[in-house]
Amino acid sequence: MSSQGQFGFAEMREWEHAAIEDVKVAEVVFNLPLERPYTYSIPEPLRDLIKPGQRVKAPLGRSNRIVVGYCVAIRPGESGQKRLKPIEELLDSEPLLNGQMLELTRWIGERYLCGWGQVLDSVIPAGVRKKSGTREVQNFILVPGTEEKLTSARLSRQQKMVIEVLQKSTGPVTATDLCERAGCSPGPLKSLQERGLIKAMRIRSEISGDDLLPVQQQADLKLNVQQQQALDRILQPIRASEHETLLLHGVTGSGKTEVYIRAIREVVSYGRQAIVLVPEISLTPQTIRRFRSRFSTVAVLHSHMTDAERHWQWQQISSGEIQVVVGARSAVFAPTPNLGLIVIDEEHEPSFKQDSTPRYHAREVARKRCLDERVPLILGSATPTLESWIRATRKLDVLVSMPSRVEDRPLPPVVVVDTRSDPRISKGSAIGRALYGAIDRALKDKGQVILFLNLRGYSPTVWCRSCGAGIKCPNCDITLTWHRDRQCVVCHSCDYEITPPKACPTCQSPAVRYLGTGTQKLDEEVQNTFPNATVIRMDSDSMQKPGSHDEALEKFRKGEVQILLGTQMIAKGLDFPNVTLVGVIDADTMLRQPDLRAAERTFQLIAQVAGRTGRGERGGRVLVQTTSPNDPAVKFASKHDFIGFAQHELAERYDTQAPPFSSVARVIFRGPDEMRTRQTAQAVADRLRSARRDATEVVRVLGAAPAPITRLRGLWRFHLQIAAKTPELVKELWQSAEQSLSLPDDVEFAIDVDPINAR
Ligand code: ADP
Ligand code: ZN
Ligand code: ZN
Repeated sequence: MSSQGQFGFAEMREWEHAAIEDVKVAEVVFNLPLERPYTYSIPEPLRDLIKPGQRVKAPLGRSNRIVVGYCVAIRPGESGQKRLKPIEELLDSEPLLNGQMLELTRWIGERYLCGWGQVLDSVIPAGVRKKSGTREVQNFILVPGTEEKLTSARLSRQQKMVIEVLQKSTGPVTATDLCERAGCSPGPLKSLQERGLIKAMRIRSEISGDDLLPVQQQADLKLNVQQQQALDRILQPIRASEHETLLLHGVTGSGKTEVYIRAIREVVSYGRQAIVLVPEISLTPQTIRRFRSRFSTVAVLHSHMTDAERHWQWQQISSGEIQVVVGARSAVFAPTPNLGLIVIDEEHEPSFKQDSTPRYHAREVARKRCLDERVPLILGSATPTLESWIRATRKLDVLVSMPSRVEDRPLPPVVVVDTRSDPRISKGSAIGRALYGAIDRALKDKGQVILFLNLRGYSPTVWCRSCGAGIKCPNCDITLTWHRDRQCVVCHSCDYEITPPKACPTCQSPAVRYLGTGTQKLDEEVQNTFPNATVIRMDSDSMQKPGSHDEALEKFRKGEVQILLGTQMIAKGLDFPNVTLVGVIDADTMLRQPDLRAAERTFQLIAQVAGRTGRGERGGRVLVQTTSPNDPAVKFASKHDFIGFAQHELAERYDTQAPPFSSVARVIFRGPDEMRTRQTAQAVADRLRSARRDATEVVRVLGAAPAPITRLRGLWRFHLQIAAKTPELVKELWQSAEQSLSLPDDVEFAIDVDPINAR
């Protein structure tokens, strides 16, 4: 149609034709790294059925192979449009997600430079996608939150039996089972259902009913002045139905969780739902119990749920019956119908960034979602990321501070011990003289001890004394770790495992030695040094059985164990009043990483482990062993001075214009052939640099260079980085070059926007 409103005859006819039939077309995205949707015609029988958010099957590409995709929009067709291929089949009767969530996933594709369809495929749980074609069974549960109603309700004997069976069971019970166990006909089920005391649901398989066990409800604590002030500030945007991002910077033990709970209570009182994101590692029964004891309907989303469980949770959440969703990163997509608030606890945790496509950061997704749904976002941490901190200091976000611990308990004193001339350590011990004395004293005083070491295995370095070579994994550029309990050496990247080599693979000398201390060796040393204490080790090797994590913590809580040692698994969220000493075996392991955030991580680690002590009346202290006692990250952490650290580190980052002063995208190339992979990376870097000249000067292209781990799982790795003031500039440059990229078949690339690990 011309803009003057004059049509030729043919155009007019086509337009009329379209208007009469109201011909609509469907836009469809596939699990491909493409931004733009494909357009399809909609066959007659599907016209009234198809909606955005449903999956379809449609022919793709020249071969017209039939592929599953997502319909993302229905719009009027354009006249004169060339013949479109038709949608082949509609897979869902209802949309899998609503318009708002569609928009959110579109945004993620744009922001993180991946395909919209790739995002949808990753965000919608497999159990939800697979729901068609599986046998469904009717199951019953007690209606959550009706405990009081039940005690006063007048029930027949058979009805009482049914309720009793449900109360005793740990999950939904099938109708058949229920009748059998209660010894009744389906009649009582029906009447209880009509009275709203039990309800039926359709699920496809057994779900673990742990999530449905009623928990004794507890009253809210009386907030102290600091908490009340923080809450008052958070309630402002909640009451005004506005979006604001609030950074709750509160030291460990300042009572942040209590503040979240009260903010959530307000939201729930409006009939809205809240989402609480926690790092996967803190999805412990302790955290979950805390939320369950305050809200009657809490859904927990773990990463190790079955498809059926996930599907069931997803349905419960979208029905609006859940008040609070607690989960790891992907819970940011929970389909709450009327969201009121998102909380991200420990917002500095790297697990909020996904490390496979789509490589989104849950904090940024939450920010976008909260903005669109006009609800507040709370970021909580004792050690915020510099990205979040700088936004708060620039007043882009709201800073809410809680500088003191609950009941004015002091933060524990942190002693930094220089281990360079320690007599015990120079003899091969992991525990130096000062730490030895401190453990000894803590145990004599009937206190408990936590020892932190970020290296698992027995000895993290296998080394040849004759030629000096480290013995590396044949697939990866990583030295092997000696696991003495299994009598093998293991690659911690690809799980390559062999019996310890008798001779050096480089020079054939038999002088193979094991160096350094991992958690297994530390465990042995602690048992030998303190034979009267009971020790428990927590790392991913010792905690493989489901539930072993909780079992170990329970023993520690009960005081059956005096010394808990482990990897970062124990640095988070634990709250044991009797812990009077925390030892960091080697702060250098973090500090020496070739990573922009090495200092930041070291600071966070020391501050977080320090948070594990001094929680009870007996106080506590922290001992940090390092060979860099004057490192700023170590020094500021020992003074609990986050603001000082942030200022220092931001000044350093400013000098090099590193994040958060710039936005970075890292492009990693992988391939089996070293030369070809290197050349491809270099060619793309050159291509970007030449595209930059006519774009803008403020975009920098660094590399290509070998990635820090140059070989991983048998593939060579090279990377380049695009850095600019804003993510938009980075994206512009990438997209300007992307179209003309041609890669050899055996080289693939992955793009990581705002990367947080430098491997
Ligand atoms: P954070 O999340 O900041 O580390 P928590 O919310 O876990 O702190 O609180 C630390 C401890 O203090 C918990 O045991 C909690 O029950 C307790 N606590 C929190 N707020 C109060 C309060 N107002 N009165 C008494 N105890 C509190
Ligand atoms: Zn050798
Ligand atoms: Zn390997």
